[in-house]
Order: sequence, then C-alpha cells, then structure tokens
Amino acid sequence: MSDCLFCGIAAGEIPADVIYRDEDFVAFNDISPTAPTHALVIPIKHYENIVEIAEADAELAGRFISTAAVVAKQEDIHEGFRLVTNTGDEGGQSVHHVHLHVLGGRQLTWPAG
Ligand code: 5GP
Ligand code: ZN
Repeated sequence: MSDCLFCGIAAGEIPADVIYRDEDFVAFNDISPTAPTHALVIPIKHYENIVEIAEADAELAGRFISTAAVVAKQEDIHEGFRLVTNTGDEGGQSVHHVHLHVLGGRQLTWPAG
C-alpha cells in the first residue's frame, strides 16, 4: 500500500530507528515511547491487522509472534515485557498496518498501563 506509513518504513523510504530486520519482518523504535523499551514489529508485507494476517498466512502470523520474542530478547528486557497488538477502532489501532508493540524496561501495570 503506497500510502501506508509502515510500508514506507519497511521499504526504507521513511526514516525509522530500525533495530531488527529479516526477509519478512522489521522492528523499529516507537516514535512516542511509553516505556524505556518500546519497539514495533511489523511484517514487511502489508496486512491491516492480526485477523487479516492470521487468516491469510497462519505460518507467517506464527513467525510474527516468534520475531517479537526474538526482538524482546535482543533488547534485553529480561525482567519482563508485554506484547500488544491494538486492533480496530475500539482496540485503539491508529496505524492500519499490523504491528506488535514490544514494551518493557519498567514495571507495567494491568489493566494496561
Ligand atoms: P497503534 O496506536 O496503532 O497501536 O500504534 C501505532 C504506534 O505507531 C504508536 O505507538 C505511535 O507512536 C507509532 N508511530 C506513529 N507514527 C510513527 C512514525 O512515523 N514512526 C515511528 N517509529 N512510530 C510511529
Ligand atoms: Zn502497510
């Protein structure tokens, strides 16, 4: 999708602080971090949300989760972390290219905060 912000980051056309890349996924630091570690993991191929990627390619969706775990380990948030994928308007999704937030480096609260 040519007008998608995260497609632009995946293609290297829009600058981002990239911390991980392989042939299917990219991870970069969130521009407005809410924790000391706040990375976003995205598939390079555009899917709108977690339902769309899961229905289109369950194997890729599985590796999406695995990649987020690799990124968390790489970022050394060994005291604990959280993976979040906001989905749809009521889920608080603001960028409509599926992404996993990897949050850590402070005590996270629940309900989410
Ligand atoms: P959502 O609200 O869709 O769950 O998460 C979107 C995330 O993307 C937000 O945490 C927001 O700060 C981040 N974000 C929005 N625009 C940019 C950008 O241009 N660069 C980076 N690195 N992050 C962005
Ligand atoms: Zn996209």
